[in-house]
Amino acid sequence: KENIGSNFVENAINEDLKNEKYTEGIHTRFPPEPNGYLHIGHAKSICLNFGLARNFTGKCNLRFDDTNPTKEDTEYVDSIQEDVKWLGFKWDEQHYASDYFQRLYDFAVELIKRGKAFVCDLSSDEIREYRGTLTEPGKESPYRNRTVEENLDLFQRMKAGEFPDGSHVLRAKIDMASPNITMRDPVLYRIAHAEHHRTGNEWCIYPMYDFAHPLSDAIEGITHSVCTLEFEEHRPLYDWLLESLGFEVGKRPRQIEFARLNLTNTVMSKRKLRQLVEGGYVSGWDDPRMPTISGLRRRGYTPAALRDFCERIGVAKSNSLVDVAMLEHCVREDLNEQADRVMAVLEPLKVVITNYPEGQTEYLEAENHPTRGGHRFVPFSREIYIEREDFEENPPKKFFRLKPDGEVRLKHAYIIKCEEVIKDADGNIVELHCTYDPESKTGGATAGRKVKGTLHWVDAKSALQAEVRLYDYLLLTDENGNTPDDFLSALNPNSLRVIKDAMVEPSLKHIAEGTRYQFLRKGYFCVDKDTTPEHLVFNEVVGLRDTWAK
Ligand code: ATP
Ligand code: MG
Ligand code: MG
Repeated sequence: KENIGSNFVENAINEDLKNEKYTEGIHTRFPPEPNGYLHIGHAKSICLNFGLARNFTGKCNLRFDDTNPTKEDTEYVDSIQEDVKWLGFKWDEQHYASDYFQRLYDFAVELIKRGKAFVCDLSSDEIREYRGTLTEPGKESPYRNRTVEENLDLFQRMKAGEFPDGSHVLRAKIDMASPNITMRDPVLYRIAHAEHHRTGNEWCIYPMYDFAHPLSDAIEGITHSVCTLEFEEHRPLYDWLLESLGFEVGKRPRQIEFARLNLTNTVMSKRKLRQLVEGGYVSGWDDPRMPTISGLRRRGYTPAALRDFCERIGVAKSNSLVDVAMLEHCVREDLNEQADRVMAVLEPLKVVITNYPEGQTEYLEAENHPTRGGHRFVPFSREIYIEREDFEENPPKKFFRLKPDGEVRLKHAYIIKCEEVIKDADGNIVELHCTYDPESKTGGATAGRKVKGTLHWVDAKSALQAEVRLYDYLLLTDENGNTPDDFLSALNPNSLRVIKDAMVEPSLKHIAEGTRYQFLRKGYFCVDKDTTPEHLVFNEVVGLRDTWAK
């Protein structure tokens, strides 16, 4: 019986297993370059690679693809480990491509011995010129026919540091007339007198991605090397290298490409994200507006929401643009289940309840979650705050919040009636005087009385002041959701709005960083790392209204 997987990668693996390839089980890897922080696109690759290992009872490695010494750093290595773990995955083995530098060098020597690689003295500009175009074949390098001895000698001297950067490269000897430009004698090694974050100055030649990747996969016994679509044209080279070095079909790794994730209102390349960080457009890689995993975590996204998102977008063979509203939908659904409800007033307007006894405070039971239950007691006294936008002096029709002579219910508390609007000399509303119906709370004689609106509120005396950071998209897009190439021109000037004097209920006094709440009627919020015992800071995760058109 045929096994049908949930995506074409699973189907391809099933096919291999049916044909008795990879009889020792499947083995995948997630291979980030430690040159930046991971983003939501990487989450897709992580979920896919670790998901395959789980679904086929195989293994998945974490491999740092650190062959570019000038761009890489241990800061990124650390953040990548943290992010993969946070997403809920555990790698079977951890490796660094730099651990293979000697073995990769030995493979290169072997290729030279087999007459399949040569040292070339053309400059990088000349190599590009000789390469030809899609419509024109390339031209062979004048160094292409060096003897094996000469190549071995030169390559060894490249390694020994005898030559300056750019003076020589090692190239595969394939076919300068190939319709696939990748196959026109690609560069395998370059000279770079640069310090590597792990190997220091031990090496001054470094393998190219196209060389290091298939051979690292082969060294680790990877069976399925899943990568993004832009590597499709590189697959013949991937196979050529393994073939040339004698790795057997059906045992050697197989490259399979899938479409990378693109999101509306979002740039995803590390290069662009780095520009945002280094240009000071955001506070860092973990700015809550960033599409990095660390940014999403700080914003208040949950690992479950990100995994759910990756599951829903699926794995396809052609590139597409996913609506960021779908990501928001996923976190909203998860937080609807997970987050306790509390009351917070973002823009406070004072309300004095004139018929409530002075100096008295009572504690009203408030449920924490509509299905999970749990409760706390919220204080209530003569002065409270409501949301400024919940009062209108000259309301439009169907305004069911508070208005002069109007009534509303205060959540978990009483019905109040607006009796008087107090203004300052300039005509600004500074407070409201209301009366309350003492019998209208739960269990009271008039508890069942119907009024149209229910407002959230906090008790003025006991409320805690808090800073609340509200977010909009970092980037504006055209009507198709695309960001221009010159993405800095599309930066949204209003992506961050800071409210310094929000008031939150006192139960939030001892909360830990990262805790997520639903602020009733307002949205989901998460305690930011900037919080101190004296100063609460919340990030808006996502609003309550779902804008994702299913
Ligand atoms: P970037 O262009 O953002 O730097 P990258 O592909 O160079 O991305 P790597 O660190 O090399 O970054 O990526 C590690 C893995 O994550 C690769 O297998 C890569 O294909 C995958 N990946 C990167 N971006 C995406 C994306 N947007 N969608 C899906 N997978 C991605
Ligand atoms: Mg890469
Ligand atoms: Mg990159």
